[in-house]
Amino acid sequence: MKKIFSNIDINFLRRYDKPGPRYTSYPSAPLFNKEYNSEIFCADLSNNNENNLNPISLYFHIPFCDTLCYFCGCTTIITPNIQHLEDYVSYIKKEISLFTKYYSNKRQVVQLHWGGGTPSYLKPKQILDLGNFIKNKFNFSENIEYGVEIDPRGLTFDHLQAFHDVGMNRVSIGVQDFNEEVQRATNRIQPEDITLSSIKWSRQLGIKSINIDLIYGLPKQTVSSFEITLSKVINISPERIAVFNFAYVPWMKPHQKLINQKDLPKTEEKLEILKMTIEKLTGAGYVYIGMDHFVKPTDDMAIAQKNKTLYRNFQGYSTNAGADLFGFGMSSISHFDNVYSQNHKNLADYYQSLDNNQFPISLGYKMNRDDVIRKYVIMKLMCDLEVDKIQVEQKFMINFNEYFKDSISKLEEFKEQGVVYEDSSRIVIGDIGRLILRNIAMCFDAYIERLLKEKPIFSKTI
Ligand code: SF4
Repeated sequence: MKKIFSNIDINFLRRYDKPGPRYTSYPSAPLFNKEYNSEIFCADLSNNNENNLNPISLYFHIPFCDTLCYFCGCTTIITPNIQHLEDYVSYIKKEISLFTKYYSNKRQVVQLHWGGGTPSYLKPKQILDLGNFIKNKFNFSENIEYGVEIDPRGLTFDHLQAFHDVGMNRVSIGVQDFNEEVQRATNRIQPEDITLSSIKWSRQLGIKSINIDLIYGLPKQTVSSFEITLSKVINISPERIAVFNFAYVPWMKPHQKLINQKDLPKTEEKLEILKMTIEKLTGAGYVYIGMDHFVKPTDDMAIAQKNKTLYRNFQGYSTNAGADLFGFGMSSISHFDNVYSQNHKNLADYYQSLDNNQFPISLGYKMNRDDVIRKYVIMKLMCDLEVDKIQVEQKFMINFNEYFKDSISKLEEFKEQGVVYEDSSRIVIGDIGRLILRNIAMCFDAYIERLLKEKPIFSKTI
């Protein structure tokens, strides 16, 4: 265990518990706008494909869920109506067919992810139908990383078998918290035995990479209750553990008002939970990648961080730096070249566009040169935990210290605290700085002050 994480100062953390972006993109999503539309996307897609053998990463959003978890921050539709799932599968296939008209089959898919909502809410037959359709339409790399988000509730072995049959080699299992009181307070009743079954089945199928998702800061959670959850997770020994900060944003997700505010851990306790989590997981041998990710030292993500090839996209950290990302399904986001585009978040609009044979684009953003430079620096900080100034100067033909004069002066307080170090050639984030990566990255964000003044849009950073 790294000693540094056994001595986290809560007062220090409290100081940085402020709203800020998660930097799964830069510029952050609130800057996406309606000027970007389906026609522009078509033209950009054609350009992107021309003589381009860049690998690609695919994301498929399955928005449906059986019941509503009160903490949910995803774009989801709660429905018991199976017909919705049938319709959706047919529309997402339509979107894929439209896309593949513009896509060169020489380009390899190196990463694929089904997220939600709940992809495992689909029936095994629908999983096979959509999964095989995808497989036939795209050119999968032999070493494809194929991940699926699984909800153990309602899951059968046949669901996992179907995902495995279409290529899945990684699972991400939603647990959030094993504690029953927390589960009741968040309307996510998930008995431990069904979670353990989903893990047992995944291992039976030979899935080598299992990720468990947890959330800290949930109602009724305490340091001791969450420590028990973590012990159970450590016993399972997953390759990766994600411990997300509960984003309490009732102004954006009104259903979070169903949470009794009095049940939420106070700031102090929430920070203690985070401190205990980092100490316990690093103590159990997991590497703290940064923000919310912990992995075994042999995991690709730990290796990628060492090799400086780690990347951040809308699914969080990724080992496939440089791949173009294309998202399918309601609300999904694509990112390639200097473009971000987002599909309609409303199902009727999503269907309507596809009925008109148009890409279902609702918003987007075209990055300018300054955005590209800042994104590069922010991603380096978030993933490599350091920026090589000389490399940035050579890559973008700028003088780093001049270009980032304002940002460097904002870094002063972090340097004084001893969490960031700077010399003539590098900016390096120290171990404790990993806890406040978002705050440090904000120093390089050209839009952050304006966005923070406009309206509450971001969750708190810690
Ligand atoms: S299962 Fe996941 S996506 Fe569905 S409501 Fe719960 S948290 Fe949200």
